[in-house]
Amino acid sequence: MSRSIALLLPVIAITILATSAATAASQPALTPAPPAKIRTLLITGVNNHNWQFTSRVHEDTLEATGLFDVDVTEDPAASLADATSLAAYQLFVIDYNDYDAPKRWPPQAEENFTTAVQTRGVGVVAIHSANNSFKGWGEYESMLGLLWREGAGHGEFHTFDVTFADADHPITKGLPTSFSQPDELYHGLTKAKDAPYKLLAQAMSSRASKGTGKDEPMAFTLQAGKGRIFATPLGHVWTGQAPPSSRSSPRASAPFSPAVLNGPPQVT
Ligand SMILES: [Zn+2]
Repeated sequence: MSRSIALLLPVIAITILATSAATAASQPALTPAPPAKIRTLLITGVNNHNWQFTSRVHEDTLEATGLFDVDVTEDPAASLADATSLAAYQLFVIDYNDYDAPKRWPPQAEENFTTAVQTRGVGVVAIHSANNSFKGWGEYESMLGLLWREGAGHGEFHTFDVTFADADHPITKGLPTSFSQPDELYHGLTKAKDAPYKLLAQAMSSRASKGTGKDEPMAFTLQAGKGRIFATPLGHVWTGQAPPSSRSSPRASAPFSPAVLNGPPQVT
C-alpha cells in the first residue's frame, strides 16, 4: 500500500498536470464521450538505475488508469529532435540520467524539449535520479528545481515516513497524511537558479540512517513558462534489482481514483 502511494504520486500529478488539455479535447454530447487519453512520452534508455524495470512499471501504472496513452522512447536524443512527432505529446515523464557518462542531448532535441514545456505547456514529471542529469543545462536544471550535484547524498536504504506538507494541494488532496516508503532518501540537493518550488512532501533524514537529521524535500511542483512540473526524488531501483512489491495494480489505484479524476487543473 505505501509503496503504491509513492508510485501513484507521479500518476496523480501527471493526471492533474494534463487535466485541462484532456477536458478541452472532450466533446459535449447527450452521452458524454470518454475524455481523450493523455498523450505521454516516457523518456528513458540511459540511467545508472534499472531503467528497463522502472520504465515498464511507470508505463504499466499509467496505462492501468485508462487515462494515458504512453509511448516510451529509449533514444530521446533522436525522438526529441523530431519536432513534428513531439507535437502530439502533452506530458513528458523522465526516467533518465546521464550520470555515468555525461552527455547532453543534441541542440535541436534540447531546444524542442524546452520549447514544448515552456511555450506549449507540456507537463513534466521527473522521477528519482532524473535530477542527476545534465549538469550545466540551465533550463533543464530550473525545470527540475533540486539537483543531485556536489554535496548531494543519501544515507542507508531504509524505510521512512513521507509526510505531506500541503494536504490541500490537488496532487495530495484525499491521500493519507503520510506513508511509509522503503527507498533512498536524497539529501543535500542543490537548488537550481530561478526555480522557486512548492513543497508537497518531505521526510526526516535520520542520523540513525546516516542522514542529515533534517527534513528533506520528497515531492514538489514548479512552473517553467506554461509548463507545470512535478518532481520527486523517490523511486530508487538499483541496477539488477526489481523488487516485486514496487509493482502497482489497478486494485491499488482504486482508492485514489477520485483524486486522479477530479483534481482541479491548476497546479502551481
Ligand atoms: Zn537511486
